[in-house]
Amino acid sequence: MPDEKETISITEFLETCPPSQAFLISDLTQWLSLSTRSFQAVNTPPLQLHCTHEQCNGTRFFRCISGATALDSGESKDIFLNYRCANCLTTTKSFALKAIADEKNHSGALQKYGEYPPYGPPTSPKLMKLIGPDRELFLKGRRCENQGLGVGAFVYYRRVIENQKNRILSEIKKVLETLKAPDTAIEAINNAINETQFSKSMDIAEPTIPEALFINGHNPLKLVYRALSDGIHNHSDEHCLGQASSIRIVLGELADRLAQSLKDEAELTHALNRLLNPN
Ligand SMILES: [Zn+2]
Repeated sequence: MPDEKETISITEFLETCPPSQAFLISDLTQWLSLSTRSFQAVNTPPLQLHCTHEQCNGTRFFRCISGATALDSGESKDIFLNYRCANCLTTTKSFALKAIADEKNHSGALQKYGEYPPYGPPTSPKLMKLIGPDRELFLKGRRCENQGLGVGAFVYYRRVIENQKNRILSEIKKVLETLKAPDTAIEAINNAINETQFSKSMDIAEPTIPEALFINGHNPLKLVYRALSDGIHNHSDEHCLGQASSIRIVLGELADRLAQSLKDEAELTHALNRLLNPN
């Protein structure tokens, strides 16, 4: 994310800057020549944004589908820009902006009132699946994180993990079962699922996590639990923001590893079946 005081291009501004802050823009306007007249208008270059359409599911070019917005030198105006994915022609992105043009040089300042879908990099679909019903709560945490609201992000993420502890533990149990873990480990994870007190449940579950789910040699459940129990008391918003980001990243990695472990096992079983029963 660029600093508020540096001058950036309108492309960078629309693609990467969060709402509420004003940024200096080097190429805010351009001269447009139509058959009947020439005028200065807001520059609307193509943007590279994440498209969630099943046909795209990645970064694609979006083109502006709003008509030209006139903006004279020295003029201040509230504007809407609507963009659409150039690949699927379905997904749209809308920006509500305050624009102030400089007296010369096509530069100026821009501030986002808001955008829809909301600002922020995409979240892994595997993580969304893991947290299931608390998707919306999680996305609120993500929005807080994107706007630098550390305490808010931390509290939302903690709520999601506490609410969904049994979904997460049940996925871990599936991996233990496919790995043919000892009965004692399955029993322990069942006890953790049945334990309603979050901290006790985590204490029971932690030692059962198979190494296949470890992240760089660390137990992901232990990392997340440690960060959550540290809490937000007496910590700066900045510290909480760091903790919230780390919790989200580790949870995302865990979701990937859970999905991968189950997929690997399913593929292996399928391959074995094919070799054992060639006909
Ligand atoms: Zn698309």
